[in-house]
Amino acid sequence: MNCDRHPEREGVASCIICGRILCEECRLKLGGKNYCERCADKLFRERVESGEEKRKGMGLGVKILIAILIILGILAVLSYLIYSVYLAPYYGSPENVLRILMNDPERIIRFLGTRIST
Ligand SMILES: [Zn+2]
Ligand SMILES: [Zn+2]
Repeated sequence: MNCDRHPEREGVASCIICGRILCEECRLKLGGKNYCERCADKLFRERVESGEEKRKGMGLGVKILIAILIILGILAVLSYLIYSVYLAPYYGSPENVLRILMNDPERIIRFLGTRIST
């Protein structure tokens, strides 16, 4: 059998993916296996693309984490604002408000409801 691309040359190996006969020049030996140029190229590109996808996935995870942190920050600021505007003049220290919130959260919610609506 002669090389698929060079009919005048003798084939020394065949591609393990497409089975094409390869001469010494056309043969690409990767990890002890013979590939033609086209299959090796395809294999390499697939590997690079899957690597890029993995990196993109990591980027998304980091973005979601940042979004959660921003939301938590906004919630913290909001609850602090609600506390200092509505609750602090009435209930005093944050420890006191927290204690009431633990024992009787409805009281705070009702109080806030009347305060915000009026
Ligand atoms: Zn091939
Ligand atoms: Zn060849």
